[in-house]
Amino acid sequence: MSKYGKEILLGAAPVVVVFLYFLGVNIIPVVFMAAILGAFFFMNRARNGMSASSDRRAKAKAPSFMTFEDIGGQDRAKRELKEALDFLIRYEDIKRLGIRPLKGILLTGPPGTGKTLMAKAAAHYTNSVFMAASGSEFVEMYVGVGASRIRDLFKEAKARAVKEKKDSAIIFIDEIDVIGGKRDGGQHREYDQTLNQLLTEMDGIHTSESPRVLIMAATNRKEMLDSALLRPGRFDRHIDVDLPDKKARLHILNIHAKGRPLSEEIDLDAIAKETFQFSGAQLESVMNEAAIYAMREEASVIGQLHLSLAVDKVMLGEKTDRESTKEERERVALHELGHAIVAERVRPGSVSQVSLSPRGKALGFVRHNPQADQYLYTKQQIEEQIMIALGGSVAEEMFYGGRSTGSRNDFEQALQMVRTMMDSGLTRLGIIDRNMVTKQELMKENTAILEEVTNATRSLLERHRRVFEQSLDILIAEEVLSGEQFRELLVRLEQPQIA
Ligand code: ATP
Repeated sequence: MSKYGKEILLGAAPVVVVFLYFLGVNIIPVVFMAAILGAFFFMNRARNGMSASSDRRAKAKAPSFMTFEDIGGQDRAKRELKEALDFLIRYEDIKRLGIRPLKGILLTGPPGTGKTLMAKAAAHYTNSVFMAASGSEFVEMYVGVGASRIRDLFKEAKARAVKEKKDSAIIFIDEIDVIGGKRDGGQHREYDQTLNQLLTEMDGIHTSESPRVLIMAATNRKEMLDSALLRPGRFDRHIDVDLPDKKARLHILNIHAKGRPLSEEIDLDAIAKETFQFSGAQLESVMNEAAIYAMREEASVIGQLHLSLAVDKVMLGEKTDRESTKEERERVALHELGHAIVAERVRPGSVSQVSLSPRGKALGFVRHNPQADQYLYTKQQIEEQIMIALGGSVAEEMFYGGRSTGSRNDFEQALQMVRTMMDSGLTRLGIIDRNMVTKQELMKENTAILEEVTNATRSLLERHRRVFEQSLDILIAEEVLSGEQFRELLVRLEQPQIA
């Protein structure tokens, strides 16, 4: 009965009021009082709801125990960050020497490289309370709401530090560019107010203050940030958190392999090699997807094949069961053979898989296996790269007399590489500033380069016509050829002709 007490009371109240009215009692004061009580009740409830939700947010953002050892690679970034954090730990020395407190550390780098992990590890390293928020959480339609959220965040961080008896708090703001973008006068006033509030809170941080507050922020668009944020005394420590190199990738894979049953034959080094330009988040995803493939097959351990499929999935997307016609499959096979033959010729041993199984938007693909991480390219290397990209469309032209829409992505890559050549002074235009040359000049050089490379690709592939003709059926039947299988085929079919 008590369970429905509130409902019964709410239902009975109007009945009593109407009854009194019919008895001729003046009910206006009663209704007036009820309205005031009602408003008070609802305001109170809303406030409780809000603080419960901010409590929830704080809880949801509470760090899962994270140390610098749990972060793969990023040795330089970790070292720089630890050095900066020592400012927070050695505050007695800082006070004695009159050093201005470190207020803000900005982590910059591509998505998924471990910036949030770094902030969490920083909180653990300095034994601080950790509060996190994302720039987009402060964006509201109503002017002033974002600013008051910033105020609340700082208040909450200090209150939590006091409650948990800690000397310091780290506030982490992800996507700082959302609120910290350049103020050019044309922006929404709400953004300005939020940013101003953040600057005010930062200016209010003093060495003597307890608990001490350090703000860490992350962005992958540092150039977008307002200079007021970056000036000394604000976010004046900038730490780059880059994509991992091969050694770091192996480290990250090993971290995420912990606690997962791996087969004896697993070669994580090979996976680290194949995952050039993968972020930490993508590598975590590779391990996770490999485990899912193992589960699908009801395998007791994760094998090399599961990992290899997982790399494809993270790179290109899930396998799709698009039914294609025989003609379409043939065209896709010739297209992929075109890429693969050029790749093996210009970079022997570089093909790690030729596949006809559709993944994501691709109907087929060739997976390349970089010999080593490379960050610097010569003119010849870029041209070879363009040849590999154009190999598919040139093969289609050779066998069908024309191209298809399947080369769109390849052309985008080729054009991007031509742009890189131009900006690096590797073309006949010499060292240029794009504003100093006309569009026509750029277009002319672009066309000339692509024409030359296309011709070179065509003459290379023409010499391998026999390989195309004889390996087409094999690829269609097998659907997937490993790098080794493809190389064996190439050698066998090529015997009478020398490339
Ligand atoms: P974003 O810029 O998109 O917010 P981020 O740089 O903050 O990304 P994190 O959120 O720190 O990236 O990383 C996402 C996930 O990727 C982590 O939870 C972790 O599983 C994995 N990860 C990323 N980098 C590393 C790393 N260096 N070592 C181990 N795991 C990593």
